[in-house]
Order: sequence, then C-alpha cells, then structure tokens
Amino acid sequence: MAAQSKERLTGENLRRMIIFEIYNALRGAEITRIEFEGPEIAVYVKKPDYILQNEKVVGELAKKLRKRIVLRTDPNSRKSHENTRRYLLEILPKEAGIGPGDIEFDDRLGEVTILAQNPNAIPYKSASFRNKILAETGWRPVVMRKPSLTSRTLNIILRKSLTDAKERQRALRDTGERIFRETLIGTRRIRVIGLGSFGEVGRSAILVDTGESKILLDAGAAPTSYGPEAFPYFDSPEFRIEDLDAVIISHAHLDHVGMLPLLFKYGYRGPVYMTAPTRDIAVLVLLDFMELAKREGREPPFTQKEINLMLSRTIVMPYNVVTDVAPDTKLTFSNAGHILGSSLVHLHIGQGLYNILYTGDLKYYRIKGDTSTRLLPPANYQFHRVETLIIESTYGATETQPRHMAEAELIELVNEAVKNKGKILIPVMAVGRGQEILLVLNRALKEGKIPEIPIYVDGLVYEVTAIYTAYVDYFAKPVREAILNGDNPFMTENTEYVNSQSKRDEIIYSDEPAIILATSGMMQGGPVIDYFKSMAEDERHILAFVSYQAPGTLGRRLLEGEREIAFQEDGRLRMVKVNMKVVRVEGFTGHATQSELQLFLRHLNPKPRNIILNHGEPTALLTFARIIKNRWQKFGFENPPEVIVPENLEAVTLYPRNYRLHTGVQY
Ligand SMILES: [Zn+2]
Ligand SMILES: [Zn+2]
Repeated sequence: MAAQSKERLTGENLRRMIIFEIYNALRGAEITRIEFEGPEIAVYVKKPDYILQNEKVVGELAKKLRKRIVLRTDPNSRKSHENTRRYLLEILPKEAGIGPGDIEFDDRLGEVTILAQNPNAIPYKSASFRNKILAETGWRPVVMRKPSLTSRTLNIILRKSLTDAKERQRALRDTGERIFRETLIGTRRIRVIGLGSFGEVGRSAILVDTGESKILLDAGAAPTSYGPEAFPYFDSPEFRIEDLDAVIISHAHLDHVGMLPLLFKYGYRGPVYMTAPTRDIAVLVLLDFMELAKREGREPPFTQKEINLMLSRTIVMPYNVVTDVAPDTKLTFSNAGHILGSSLVHLHIGQGLYNILYTGDLKYYRIKGDTSTRLLPPANYQFHRVETLIIESTYGATETQPRHMAEAELIELVNEAVKNKGKILIPVMAVGRGQEILLVLNRALKEGKIPEIPIYVDGLVYEVTAIYTAYVDYFAKPVREAILNGDNPFMTENTEYVNSQSKRDEIIYSDEPAIILATSGMMQGGPVIDYFKSMAEDERHILAFVSYQAPGTLGRRLLEGEREIAFQEDGRLRMVKVNMKVVRVEGFTGHATQSELQLFLRHLNPKPRNIILNHGEPTALLTFARIIKNRWQKFGFENPPEVIVPENLEAVTLYPRNYRLHTGVQY
C-alpha cells in the first residue's frame, strides 16, 4: 500500500489496514489478538521466540505504519508466576540482591519486573539475556533498581495499577477507539488558548484546538490563592470537557498538575499523558494538597476518588518516544531539566502541517565549564520541526548569581553556623530544591568543605527523594555514575530522614551543630515551623532561604525584616522573637534565568517562526519579548520571529506556512 493513500485512511478503514499489515508481516509468530490500547497497538502472539528472531521486522512494520506496536505474549503461552519466579531466582546471580518479593508480574502486559539492589550484576541490557528469559517463560523481563529508600506512595501506586488492570484495559480501549476514529473536519488552522498562566505565574492550562481534536496542556492550580482565582478558566465557552481528546502534563508541580483531579470530578474520562516520575510525584503532591486544605479547614477541591480515576487513565511515556494522542496529533516528551520527570511537550499536528513546542517549566545551562553540582541535565534543544514555541518566562526580567557562587555562599553559611556552635535551618520545597540542596551539601561534606555534621531531612522531602532514587536514569551523568558506583548522595552516613516528633524534639534540644532541611519552602506550615520556633531566639542559628518567597508568606515577611512573629498555639497567641540570622541565597532556581532563556533560544534548533511567552509576571514577559525583538539575529534566527504575549482566554490562531498570525497582541 502506498504511503500517500495510507495517510488518508481514518477510522475503521485505517484500523483494518493496520490489522492486515500486522498479520501479513508477523504471520509466523501466531497472532492471537490485536488490540488498540490507548496510543499503542498491542499484538498478542503465541510464539515469542519468533519475534526475538525477527525483531527487525517489527521495527520496520512500526516505521511503515507510523504507529507504536507492542508485542505481548498470549497469556496461554506464559508459565505460571510460581514457576517463573523459581526459574528467575535460580538463574539470576546472588550478587544482584534479589529476593522472592522483588519479582512482580503484570498479567496485562506479560511483563515480569525484577527489582535488583545491584542491577549491574545482571546483563539486563543484553538482548540475548532478555530473550532467553522470554523464550523460557513467556514473560518479558524488566530489570529495575530497587529504590534505596522506600516510598509508601510509590508502593500504593504500583499495587493499584496492578489490581485495577481490568478497568485500565477498558479505559485504554476507549482511548484507542478515539485516537483511531473517523476524522471529520480535517486540520486547517490551530488555535492556542491560555486558560491560565498567561500574563501570570500559576494555574498553567493551555487548550490546543486543531479543529479536529482538542488537547489540554497542563491543569494547574494557583498555589497562593484560593477560590475561583485558584482554578484555570475551565468555565470558558471554548473549553468543553466532553470534547477533550487528551490531557498532557509537563511536570508534577502544583501549578501544572494541581487541578487535574478536578477535570475527573467534572466528568473527564479520557487519557492523561505524563512521564512515570511525574505520575509518582504528582500523586504525592496532590495528596498533600488535599491534606493541607483539610488541615486549614477548607474543603479540598477533589478527593482520593478523583486521584484514583486519574491514575487509571494515566498513560506514562518515556522521553523521546513518539505517540499518537489524537487522530491528527502526535506527542513527544523530552527532558526539560526543571525537576525529575519534567518534560518539554512537542506536538506534531496534521501530518506535519504544524509543530508546537511547549516548554512547561524549563532549566537550561551550559554544561561545558560548569563546575557546580547539578542533579538534572539541561533541557533538550534539538527537534525535527518547530513552528511555534510556547516558552515560560518566569525569569524573563531577572538574572541571579551563577550557581557555583550560590553553592559557595551556602557552604560559607554552614561553616559560619558551625563556628558559632549553631544550626542552620533551610526551608525547602519537597520537590526539586530539597534534593538539589541535599546533593550540594553532601558533595561539600565529601570534599571536606564543611565539617562532618549531621544533615536532617524532614517533611515530604523523604517520600519525594524516595521517588527520585527510583529513577536514576533521569539524572545528570556525574550523579548517575556516582550512584551506580554505590555513592548515593541522598543516602550518606550524615543524612538522616526524620519521621517522628520525638526525633524532631531530640534535634531541637541537642546542642550539636547540624543542618536541617525541612518543608515547606515558604514556611507556610510543615515541620520547618517547629524548628523555627525553637531556634529563632538564639542568635547562633541561621535561617537560609534557597528559593523564591511569595508575597504574604512567612518566608517573605522574615526576608522583609519582620522580627516578631505571632503563632497560634492551642488557641493562644505566642510571640516569637527572631534573633537568628535570616538570609536569602540566590541562584538555586530550577527555572532558566534571563541569560539561560536566551542561551536556550540560541541553541534551539530549528528556530520557530512564532514565540508565545507565558508563565511570568507581566514585566518578565514584556522584558523578555523586547529582548527577543532586539536580539533575534544574535540568537541565530534568519527572520524575526513573531513574539506574542497573550492574555488568558485570548486565542492565538496559527496557520500553516504562507500564512501569518492574525490575532494576539504583537510586540
Ligand atoms: Zn515547576
Ligand atoms: Zn510552573
């Protein structure tokens, strides 16, 4: 069948053509079933060894059909769990550190997950090793590093996704039907509508309407406000939940994922795409968001039920894998460098008609010559095609001190506290900054830049760090290699995770110098408050902020010089005098700074024709728009890009080549 005629097929005809091609190519494998499962086409076969010998055929077929094909063994040709477990424990080397409880089965996928303390002892990257197990047992082995910390949440998610296999399968089939549906209108022009995060930071939500399909990028909350201000404009007439084909989540911060369960509360039952770490961290922060609301006597906007529904519809995608999300749209995630699992979202619309790159939150830096300690590699900047870039501009108007200077400053503060026989308290966000600071401190300890004192980590950081340790592959190369060599920066002898009030009291009443990392990052509740109350009046101690403090938060008030803080305690007011040193260390941000945003545009390849700025205060957006207008040649653009700073609810219409933009404020 010629490629051209294939492109025009949709709906039932497309499905039939795909099934015909698959049967033709893989006849020898004895196909028992072909299913459209979400964005994938699952082919169940009786003879796994045939596939192993013909892996090239499968690759070529996927390329020809331009679809993701997943081969699974027919359940009848798989050995029992019991026999497979016994076989695996027999053949896998003892040094790998695998117990009977570390082997888990996914009956739906026909996969056996092997959790190893030391995966390097297993030749798991060798195809012949994997093939041998598959041919012998009918199960496809997946070897994973056993997280060095255990996360309760992660375990709940894993168990849940296994027990809900049936419900999940049904949801995936519905999604498959929708993706391979009959197309009606065809893609002519694309409209991008900000439902939040345009002209502001927070409640990120962007509707991409191709005429044929509707996709929502992010569904965030505005963490500093409550009530209607906290939600994206889901009540906009352009936005109808029942028309939505897919939701795509860039990363697990609340301002990008906080209102996702709300969509399920209002009836959304379609797929949600995100990376695996984003899913895990999202569950954690959403549960925490609910708890916080309850503790403050507010009604949470959603319940556990909606989080479970969300999970049953979540399709995890690794970086750099292309997948169909609608009849006319393909999605590819790639690294955004911001927090674990954070993604740049690339949409390929209408058979190459249009390509949109949405950065979500972005961190970019020059690797060469960088002497600082970094957890994640900088964002990806190479793409096949990009016509429109939607880029965050949080720091569009500001530059902070370089990272290595921030690290030096923090190390100096620790030494100052030790010299005064005091402690240093560092409020951290559970996701991102907490792990980065831990990495910096442990590296400094190892290099002898700070003395051997304990580092206590308190609050939600523990669970999030546990999730981090499960995804070592996402880290920057030096960190990854260190961990693979048994040098885990989250698990040093000096690091202690605090999870009880008695331990907390012990730390508070001890006279020994120590470093304390505790949530919340802006001192809006959390264990950091306990430490603060006990330390504030003693001038030997230091309070060091390492992240942005929003107006109105206790963190901001302290930075602005407030030195008498009132706390409600058992219905009474307690005044706390602040004699400890209060400082802000700039330069640890997870966002690209002004110069890093420029560097990203310089490196970005190919160059977009249109640049839409969002996720920034108005000054940041306008300043950065002006910079692009003045320096596009320096960034390597051949033509001046159209720079657009839309407001929420303002539609930007994008036309394929030869057309220019018609709406949107232009600068
Ligand atoms: Zn973020
Ligand atoms: Zn954000």
